[in-house]
Amino acid sequence: MEIAPGIRVIQVPEEHVMRPVFTDIYLVGDGELLMIDTGEEADRFSQAMFSALVELGPSCKVAQVCVTHSHMDHCGGLRWARETLGATIRAHPAVIPKVEKKVGKDKIQPLKDGEVLKVGGKRIEVHFTPGHSEDSVCYFIRRERILFTGDTILGVGTTTVNDLYDYMATMEQLLKLKPRMILPGHGPVIPDASRTIQEYIAHRNMRERQISQQLQRAPRTAHGLVRAIYADVDKRLHRAARGNVRQHLKKLEKEGLVRVEGAGARAKYYWAG
Ligand SMILES: [Zn+2]
Repeated sequence: MEIAPGIRVIQVPEEHVMRPVFTDIYLVGDGELLMIDTGEEADRFSQAMFSALVELGPSCKVAQVCVTHSHMDHCGGLRWARETLGATIRAHPAVIPKVEKKVGKDKIQPLKDGEVLKVGGKRIEVHFTPGHSEDSVCYFIRRERILFTGDTILGVGTTTVNDLYDYMATMEQLLKLKPRMILPGHGPVIPDASRTIQEYIAHRNMRERQISQQLQRAPRTAHGLVRAIYADVDKRLHRAARGNVRQHLKKLEKEGLVRVEGAGARAKYYWAG
């Protein structure tokens, strides 16, 4: 499916509960193509990529494959891409040791933050965007203001965050690019890019405000915070909520706003702002 001139998506349906609707693989350029992500190492992905390329015809060739991060639902097809398509593989330096075993030693070239890839008449900027994972990368076509986000921003729902401090800095960085459209790693195209990024920021800020307010009243454990803040949420979701709260606490600690005493489940958090 062509989203914009020279920008196509291959959408592979998903049944996995943690992965919304479908996984996206992108083809950028004319004639010479850049592939962004490869999906999992599974026949349905290689078949989907293969039939998309057959449809484009013999004048199109995948010259490069870049990935958005090291998770296997994005990197799983790298070996196939290298061996079958003969493409050059590029990735964030931190991705390489994690996937090299599968892809082959010295077969992946590291990307640089701020680098511009020139493929098939397109200029694609490389932006290192840690948060969802330490090795997350977004790709940006400035001319069309199209942003490829991997799992940093999803087509539906909110994503998981490995480091919230980095993630929030990434959100501000992406907002400054003033993207028009987001092409996520899973789910449909997001037409209203800036508003979606602002909503992601607002959602996290609301939770952070609630945590700060609670701690300003009295020191609490992570569990105590969950009970106070997620009082009207189904108890079965409290475990996931605790992970979320811990991320906020880690960020606030990094900013010097929160101080912790003790460790593990008994760790108590004090407001230090
Ligand atoms: Zn993913």
